[in-house]
Amino acid sequence: MSGDDTLTGLLADAVACSRRHVEQGGLPFVGVVVSPDGLVSPPGVNQVRETGDPTAHAETVAMRAVAARHGPSTLIGATLLATGEPCSLCYRFAADHGIGRVIYAVDQDTAATWGFDYRTRDEQPTPAQRALVGGAEHRAVADRLGPFATYLQLRGLPLPDTGYSAL
Ligand SMILES: [Zn+2]
Repeated sequence: MSGDDTLTGLLADAVACSRRHVEQGGLPFVGVVVSPDGLVSPPGVNQVRETGDPTAHAETVAMRAVAARHGPSTLIGATLLATGEPCSLCYRFAADHGIGRVIYAVDQDTAATWGFDYRTRDEQPTPAQRALVGGAEHRAVADRLGPFATYLQLRGLPLPDTGYSAL
């Protein structure tokens, strides 16, 4: 398996983890850091509610955990995998700490359609996105919308009319 296939597999794993997290009452966002030498972080999940820290988004939680455990330099050149495209805060944190590229399963516009609209009015790509050496990339891994659908269904909310059916 090439390194790129490995990243796609890890992104699919993150989506599966996200669905399990939603089934336990969480939000459909998981962030995973993969360092250049292959270190894979534990999945980060949103901890804003539990900690009262408004910056404890899934992706930033994952990046902080790697920096705390292995040193901030571990983030340099690493890839950030995200089940939902990072918000501007997380893009900025990633760019400022040397993350090389971001790969996400669901883009911001699609997340907004599914009830999570955290888009900014910044022009695209944003300065933080441009600061990523490897850029930001969408990968449509299987079942990427499953965590969002599960989130809405558990709350009795209607699914958006997008033809989604793969549950
Ligand atoms: Zn964020």
